[in-house]
Amino acid sequence: MQAIVLRDREGPGGAAYGSFERPQPQRGDVLVRLRAASINRVDVYMRRSGAGITHTLPQIMGVDGAGEVAEIHDPQSPLRLGQRVVIYPALACGHCRYCLAGDQPLCLHVRYTGEHRHGTLAEYVSVPAANVLPIPDGMDFHTAACLPVAYLTAWRMLFGKAQLQAGETVVIIGIGGGVAIAALQLARMAGARAIVTSRHVEKLQHAIALGATAGINSQTEDVPRRVLELTDGYGAEVVIDSVGGPGWGASLKMAARGGRIVTCGATAGSQPGADLQRVFIRQLQIFGSTLGSQDEFRQLLNAVTQAGLQPVIDRVYPLSQAVAALDYLESGEQFGKVVIDIPLAN
Ligand SMILES: [Zn+2]
Repeated sequence: MQAIVLRDREGPGGAAYGSFERPQPQRGDVLVRLRAASINRVDVYMRRSGAGITHTLPQIMGVDGAGEVAEIHDPQSPLRLGQRVVIYPALACGHCRYCLAGDQPLCLHVRYTGEHRHGTLAEYVSVPAANVLPIPDGMDFHTAACLPVAYLTAWRMLFGKAQLQAGETVVIIGIGGGVAIAALQLARMAGARAIVTSRHVEKLQHAIALGATAGINSQTEDVPRRVLELTDGYGAEVVIDSVGGPGWGASLKMAARGGRIVTCGATAGSQPGADLQRVFIRQLQIFGSTLGSQDEFRQLLNAVTQAGLQPVIDRVYPLSQAVAALDYLESGEQFGKVVIDIPLAN
């Protein structure tokens, strides 16, 4: 089969399109004929470094994917051959304390497609039957492939961690990437007011067209001051920060007293100042968040279907061009998801 295979990290990029043996399903698995994937920052990280993630090369890349059930190796599974499915990428042990509590991303032995094992940038992937969910009627493969990483991560940040309520104000730092745009769309869906920040005027304009109340240019404006102005001096109830680094201090400053700040990434640096005085005097709550549980994923699929929410897709590349897609994502120019189409007659 054809796949994007990461063989080493010495060449320029390290990943290439080529043929690779089709995965051998284990007992309990389903083999999925992939029809679409989408790429994320973590794929760029895997291509460049992968440090801290136990894996062996060569490895097929890709965390997000959707397709059709091609083989079923689990007699208990209610899935049907040919059924359209989306992959829940956290393969959890099912036995540890966290799994028993239904919180798969905390599993002691969690493994992700495209990180710890073969992924979705391929014609086929084999995963445990428990890790595939039916795609709701009316949802296409491209939409489904956008949801697991970006939209599920944003879902847990907003609703699982920050408990965002209708009428509250949420600031989304660094609009443009998949998680930030997902947070904007989901916050709007929930009736919250969303303020976004970016260094790029065009991205701010795009975000306002998507329903953001205001866009703040983080290059030219004092972001916390602008947030205070836009909230009658109170600050935002919720701040979604997937950037970290030097801007983290500003995220603390723009939060209202008792405000909730959620981090899911640190692309600008993971060791910013903590400003503990502000944290305790203003009684801020800081949450870390990664992906979401399988149950949250089910809720997300329902909510997206009910609301008719369309993920923002910036570009679509065929599987054969997925390396160029990774380069594009790495450039940081994108506004929305980058989707990989995996044609049947590849
Ligand atoms: Zn577990």
